[in-house]
Amino acid sequence: MMLGKKQLLINGEWRDASNGRTQPVVNPATEDVIAEVASATPEDVDAAVQAARAALTGPWGTMSARERGRLVYKLGEQLMAEADEVARLETLHNGKPITESRHVEIPMAAECLQYFAGWADKVHGETVPVKGGQLVYTLREPLGVVAAIVPWNFPLLIAIWKVAPALAMGNTVILKPASQTPLTALKLGEMATALGFPPGVLNVVTGSGSTAGQAIVEHPGIDKIAFTGDTSTGKGIMRSSADTLKHVTLELGGKSPNIVFADADLDAAVRGATMGIFYGKGEVCAAGSRLLVEASIKDEFLAKVADRAKKMVAGDPLNPKTRLGAISSKAQMERVLGYIEAAKTEGATLLAGGERADIGTGKGFFLQPTVFGNVTTDMTIAREEIFGPVLAAIEFTDADDAIAKANDSIYGLASGVWTKDVKKAHYVASKLRAGTVWINTYNVYDTAAAFGGYKQSGFGRDMSMHALEYYTQVKTIWVDLA
Ligand code: NAD
Repeated sequence: MMLGKKQLLINGEWRDASNGRTQPVVNPATEDVIAEVASATPEDVDAAVQAARAALTGPWGTMSARERGRLVYKLGEQLMAEADEVARLETLHNGKPITESRHVEIPMAAECLQYFAGWADKVHGETVPVKGGQLVYTLREPLGVVAAIVPWNFPLLIAIWKVAPALAMGNTVILKPASQTPLTALKLGEMATALGFPPGVLNVVTGSGSTAGQAIVEHPGIDKIAFTGDTSTGKGIMRSSADTLKHVTLELGGKSPNIVFADADLDAAVRGATMGIFYGKGEVCAAGSRLLVEASIKDEFLAKVADRAKKMVAGDPLNPKTRLGAISSKAQMERVLGYIEAAKTEGATLLAGGERADIGTGKGFFLQPTVFGNVTTDMTIAREEIFGPVLAAIEFTDADDAIAKANDSIYGLASGVWTKDVKKAHYVASKLRAGTVWINTYNVYDTAAAFGGYKQSGFGRDMSMHALEYYTQVKTIWVDLA
C-alpha cells in the first residue's frame, strides 16, 4: 500500500474510527488499493459535532472577520504551494488526468478560498428605516456548524465550494468526502491544522454515506447541510434533515442540453460538444450529455463529433500528456456500460466508442468516448443522468422545438447554445430552465459566477456572492429610543 493508513480529523487531532474500522481506497487506473481510511461511526460524528460546536465560541468566534479572512486566504496559498502533491492525490483516487488536477481543479480551489477570504470583512448588517422612535439594525451571523457532504468527481474543488464560504462567514465545518475519494479532503485538514486554524473549526470525517453521512444528516447539533451528489441521495438528505429542520442546499444531478444551430461556428461547436461531454470523463454534473443538433446539419455535424471522439484515447492519468483518464470506480464503469447496452436495445445508433478501453496494462476502469445518434427524447439515455463519457444526440427543427426538447427533463443544471445569431442566442437563453446557460462556449467556470440548479438539479448556489446568503443568517435588533 502506497499511502498507508489515514485517520479522522476531529478537534485538531488525528484518530481512528471508534470501532477501528477502515475502508480501502482504490486507484481506478491500476485497481490497486492505495490507502486504508478510517470509516467513521455515529460516535465519531458526534465527537466532531461537539468539537465544531465548541469551536464556535472559542478563539474562532472571537477572531476578527479580517483575521479569519487572512487565515482562509493563507489556506489558498498553501494549497498552491503544495499543488503538485495535492494534484497527485486527486488523480490517484479519482483517475482524472494529472493535467486536469494540477492545472484546473487545484488552482480553481485555491482561487475559491481566496475569493471568499476577501468577503470575510465585507459582509455585514444594516440599519433599517422603521417607523418612529426605534433604532433597528441587523447583524449578519454565521449559521453555526455546517456539514459539507461531497461527491467523488471533483473531490477537493466541490469541498472547497462549501468550506470556503462557510469558514469565511465564521461557521465551523464538518467535511465528509465521498468514500471513494477521501485523500484530498484529509490533506486539506492537514494544511488547515498546520496553518493554525483553531481545533474543531475544520473537521474531516471519512466514511460511508449510509453510516457517517446519515449520522451527520440526523445529528441535531448540525445547523446546515451543504450537499453535492446524486438527486436521489439529495432527496433522502432533505427528508432526513426535516426532523431537525436543518438549512439545506442541494447541488444535484443534470442532463444538460447542448444546442447547436445550423448557423453556428461549426468547428467551435464540435469542440464544445466533445469537450462538453468528455472533459472529466463525463463525470461532470454539468456535462453536455444531450447534444441537440438542428436537423439540416445533423449528419455532417455528428460525423465530425464522432471522428473527434474516436481520436480521444484513454491513457495513464499520471502522464501529463493524457487527456482522458479512468472512470472513478468499477461500479461506475459498470453503470455506464449498462446505459450503453440500454441505448443499443432501445434503437439508438452507435457512432463512436461503446466499449471498455485498455491502456496497455490490462488493468483499470477505462471507457471509450461514446457517441449515440438517432436518440429520441423518450429513450433512457436521453432522460437519465449517466455520469460518464456517453453523448446522446437528438435532432430538432427550429428554436422553439430545441427549447421544448431541452426543457423536457426533470433536471435543470446547465445548458449550451451555439449560434452566430445574437437575437436567437438570447431568446433561447431566456427560455431555458437551467441555472447556467453557456453561449458559444461550454463548461467554463469562475469563482465569481454563481453555479447551481433549477428543478430537480437542486437549490442554493455555489461560488459567487450569492453563496454568502446560504452560510449566514440575519438577526434583527430593535432599540427603543422614545
Ligand atoms: P452520491 O449521492 O452517491 O454521494 C455524494 C455524497 O453523499 C458522498 O459523500 C456519499 O458518501 C454521501 N452519501 C451517500 N448516501 C448518503 C446518506 N444517506 N446520507 C448522507 N450522505 C450520504 O453521489 P456521487 O455518486 O458521489 O456523485 C455523483 C453525483 O453528484 C451525480 O449525480 C452528479 O451529477 C452530482 N454532482 C452534482 C454537482 C452539482 O454541482 N450540481 C456537482 C458534482 C456532482
